[in-house]
Amino acid sequence: MTHVFHRNPRQHLDFAMRGQGIELFDQNGKGYIDASGGAAVSCLGHGHPVVIQAIKDQLDRIAYAHSSFFTTQAAEDLADFLAERAPGDLDHVYFLSGGSEAVEAALKLARQYFVETGQPARRHFIARRQSYHGNTLGALAIGGNAWRREPFLPLLVPAHHVAPCYAYRDQLPGESEEQYAERLAQELEQKILELGAGNVAAFVAETVVGATAGALAPVKTYWRRMREVCDRHGVLLILDEVMSGMGRSGHLFACAEDDVVPDIIAIAKGLGAGYQPIGAMLASGRIYDAIVAGSGFFQHGHTYMGHATACAAALAVQEVIERDHLLANVLARGEQLRGELRSALGQHRNVGDIRGRGLFVGVEFVQDRAGKAALDPAQKTHARLKTQAMHNGLLMYPMGGTIDGVRGDHVLLAPPFICTDADISEIVARFAATVSQVLPA
Ligand code: PMP
Repeated sequence: MTHVFHRNPRQHLDFAMRGQGIELFDQNGKGYIDASGGAAVSCLGHGHPVVIQAIKDQLDRIAYAHSSFFTTQAAEDLADFLAERAPGDLDHVYFLSGGSEAVEAALKLARQYFVETGQPARRHFIARRQSYHGNTLGALAIGGNAWRREPFLPLLVPAHHVAPCYAYRDQLPGESEEQYAERLAQELEQKILELGAGNVAAFVAETVVGATAGALAPVKTYWRRMREVCDRHGVLLILDEVMSGMGRSGHLFACAEDDVVPDIIAIAKGLGAGYQPIGAMLASGRIYDAIVAGSGFFQHGHTYMGHATACAAALAVQEVIERDHLLANVLARGEQLRGELRSALGQHRNVGDIRGRGLFVGVEFVQDRAGKAALDPAQKTHARLKTQAMHNGLLMYPMGGTIDGVRGDHVLLAPPFICTDADISEIVARFAATVSQVLPA
């Protein structure tokens, strides 16, 4: 009997014994290509010697010092690295230990900003349906993932939701991308006006959706339009790049591709690439200055914020990505991955959409390609695909998203940035075999 309270106590779990490059090995020595980096985490693969050495060196100096007594060189250097590369004036880096913490801190910072600037009525958050921002109560409250929220509804602060940007399903026939983006912007504006513009704190969304709908990128003008609406009503824009950021989409910050600068951005997973637990929130000068000029203190904080070893690991990860020009590889291998998936599966009856940016790639499964109806949720296709893929030596991230009340089946592929073109072809071969075993044509 195990004494670990596992995420799903009924599920049998093998042991991950060791990892090397893009592969993980279990207790029987069986290898798995880690084609989702866990949940888009392990962007440098496993066992990277430079990162391991950086962690060891940091441990030899100091593992941890509490952030109310000291800063550390590792935290300062990582903050400099991020601020120098972040869009706009997102220059103020607040360290956390993961994605939910980063989102939670962003919500509280937005709220405190309005308290400090004499707008205490601004308390409402607007997010999108079919979204995931974390499992802590604040992040869960704004999320739009019905089944994760259901048991906790009485504990969640009220949040408000608008439609996601989901062109595959929601763009109308004859509607241009620009018109579709405009329609979504109008919906946000309507929601803000309904709540009273002076009562709304922020609009929160993933730049590119990961956890509920498999690498769903918005149409081109979407973010520009949404930003305009936020600005018109003094509403802050918080982008959640916990999954899509840190190079996953081919740019260090995913929003760079959308020509939009948020007021606050949350990052995590790829920041430390799984070598240490770390997340961060980057805030603009306007927000930071308001806190400093006001109470002078952000009413937040965690014991492990700015953890020296975690910061040293993350800095090493980011320096390797830059030194080895891995983002160019992310873009090239991402194109290859989508192209080869389309060749292998583009005609499969149950493969509705193959999409994404960089090495952030989603596949949506449907009853038939023409009708796009979701598969019967009772079949748990995404879970069966995961199990069969593991049997075939492939790790990919399954999702049963919620499409406005109807469950949909998606798979996320997020291979390490170090993949070669041969690695990508092997991932596609194992993936295509898995799909044909679970969903015979
Ligand atoms: N936001 C997004 C977009 C995520 O994908 C996740 C994790 N899947 C989170 C927040 C929460 O991050 P964590 O699990 O590190 O708390």
